[in-house]
Amino acid sequence: MIKKRILSIIAAVLLVTAFATPVSAQNLDDAEMRRGALCDNCNRGEIVTTYEAWSDWRYSGRQSCIHRAYGEDAIYFRTRQILYRCPFCGNNWTNVSSQTKLECHGWNA
Ligand SMILES: [Zn+2]
Ligand SMILES: [Zn+2]
Repeated sequence: MIKKRILSIIAAVLLVTAFATPVSAQNLDDAEMRRGALCDNCNRGEIVTTYEAWSDWRYSGRQSCIHRAYGEDAIYFRTRQILYRCPFCGNNWTNVSSQTKLECHGWNA
């Protein structure tokens, strides 16, 4: 069970890394929705967050500037790791989501 979750998390992170786009709020929404939800394992305990941390921003490439006529935007991404725990059955797991930002290096003539 735990192993399967970890594998799917790794797959998700790789996917996000490979296809980093300016907008990636989807994963964050999924993570938020889990708070206060019932545990998948026992269906009785209310899930609590025991740990939450963002990584540093990491450079992941560049693209044509979407703001101005010329130049490029640098793309950065960071990941958030959240540990959840069910106080009822003791089940715990990790959720990893990511966020992308653009650093504008464009200019107008
Ligand atoms: Zn539980
Ligand atoms: Zn730009």
